[in-house]
Amino acid sequence: MNEEMLNIKNLSVSYSDINILKNIDINVKKGEILGIVGESGSGKSTLIKSIMALLGSDAYVDGSIRFEGKDLLSLSSNEYREIKGNKISMIFQNPTEYFNPIRKISKQFIETIRSHKDISKLEIKEKTIDTFKFLGLNDGERVWNSYPFELSGGMNQRVAIALSIMLEPKLLLADEPTSSLDVTVQAQVVGELIKLREKLGTSIILVTHNIGVASYMSDNIGVMYGGRIVEYGQSKEVINNPKHPYTKMLIDSVPVRNGKIPTGIEGNPPNLKNIQDGCVFSDRCKYASQKCRNEAPIIRYCGENHWSSCLIEMEEVAL
Ligand code: ADP
Ligand code: MG
Repeated sequence: MNEEMLNIKNLSVSYSDINILKNIDINVKKGEILGIVGESGSGKSTLIKSIMALLGSDAYVDGSIRFEGKDLLSLSSNEYREIKGNKISMIFQNPTEYFNPIRKISKQFIETIRSHKDISKLEIKEKTIDTFKFLGLNDGERVWNSYPFELSGGMNQRVAIALSIMLEPKLLLADEPTSSLDVTVQAQVVGELIKLREKLGTSIILVTHNIGVASYMSDNIGVMYGGRIVEYGQSKEVINNPKHPYTKMLIDSVPVRNGKIPTGIEGNPPNLKNIQDGCVFSDRCKYASQKCRNEAPIIRYCGENHWSSCLIEMEEVAL
């Protein structure tokens, strides 16, 4: 469990003059599930895309992304293709981005898997139907022979997950994998991702705007705001003992928590075009002082692996 799978250091991503991600540091160990949470626009998908080399050619990327010790940013597109799908796989928010709706599932599985592995069609079919079963799709033969448009959204998402895990990736990047599903199916998919980690020791980065899903599923959580990670730590620690005012507000905005009425988060995410000196959250933070607006926040450790990027000593103000 201590083997390092992914190490991101000082990652920044910009488009022309807009800085989207700034100084991101992330470590993911073998078998670890890391949850990335934050409101829409905080840069979660940009982070995932930078690991998958899916940013447009107009993106300027700085820093390092190492996977099993290899610097991904220095790989050629051919070398990247070897790793993608095979060792690092991605689940999209919307399964329709994944499949061609008018090509049979069987064809799409055979084509994708054979582009990475020399394996017979029959073997692919058997393995696929086993994987379907593992994911709770018991009617495997029918699904195998279906077109995506014939299946429900929840089924398509599970088929997409099946394809993502068929090559037994070491790292799975899941960008809001459950948001397009209804609540019952969401719970099933989350359960299946946890089983996957147990079965194969897969490391998972789970991106979600739902801090409840992240806390249930992840070992560690990184909270993103305005393209920065503002708090990072063990899930239990972050949820029970949040140190950053934004994390606290996110937790309070989850409906029906301890019977409390959610307060919601007032204000809007920052406009990344106009980031001033000082803390990105200072405009919306009820504890912010003039100092927070003028000076960059500092990293405060409040446990071995739990830190928050904030000028305020949270012990001084009752959260
Ligand atoms: P999230 O996934 O957290 O909702 P995104 O990573 O999709 O956030 O977006 C973060 C910010 O980056 C947004 O302000 C978005 O408009 C901007 N952004 C994303 N992609 C591009 C792009 N290709 N060019 C310019 N800005 C972009
Ligand atoms: Mg997104």
